[in-house]
Amino acid sequence: MKINQAEIVISAVGPDQYPKAPMPELALSGRSNVGKSSFINKILNRKQLARTSQKPGKTQTLNFYLINEAFHFVDVPGYGFAKVSKAERAAWGRMMETYFQEREQLQAVVQLIDMRHSPTSDDVMMYEWLKHLEIPVILIATKADKIPKGKHQKHLKEIKNKLNYDSEDYLIPFSAETAQGKEEAWKAIRSFL
Ligand code: GDP
Repeated sequence: MKINQAEIVISAVGPDQYPKAPMPELALSGRSNVGKSSFINKILNRKQLARTSQKPGKTQTLNFYLINEAFHFVDVPGYGFAKVSKAERAAWGRMMETYFQEREQLQAVVQLIDMRHSPTSDDVMMYEWLKHLEIPVILIATKADKIPKGKHQKHLKEIKNKLNYDSEDYLIPFSAETAQGKEEAWKAIRSFL
């Protein structure tokens, strides 16, 4: 896809700040450090549009990007930081719950999983919750360049088993280093626009 425009429109905390335009939207979610910023920058051909993970202590926000005046990507704060306080975790939970349950134009969630390891319990919980809400998921298995090609199937199978993968979803090995999976990711994203 040709990206003519990709810009952040708002960092929102609550629904009154979400953009009002009723265009389709895809959210991006994943454990901190999974490669979410690298994925966003790679598929939008931008060097530093999304910055690396929000560290604890910083305000956690939903970052809305407007793409080609046609749709929004929403970068949601990464989960799984060990050092986050109980209060911060609760605030994160409320923000995510409100967004995922109430955002009507949300078409699908791009959930990023580190392809090198078995999904964490946070990954499993997130996926189960999205399935409970009946939200379609595009699973992106990141850092595929770090695994020998011959082992890709084994790792993908482990992800499917652990997550109790819904065969109507997508599962795409991806590398921000080699751009493997970029076209497939766009094809999946386009199917929701
Ligand atoms: P975020 O916290 O999810 O936004 O993760 P980042 O995009 O900041 O990536 C975390 C780390 O993983 C950085 O050091 C990246 O350079 C590295 N990384 C991300 N994607 C890839 C990838 O596809 N291949 C490799 N080899 N490293 C990656």
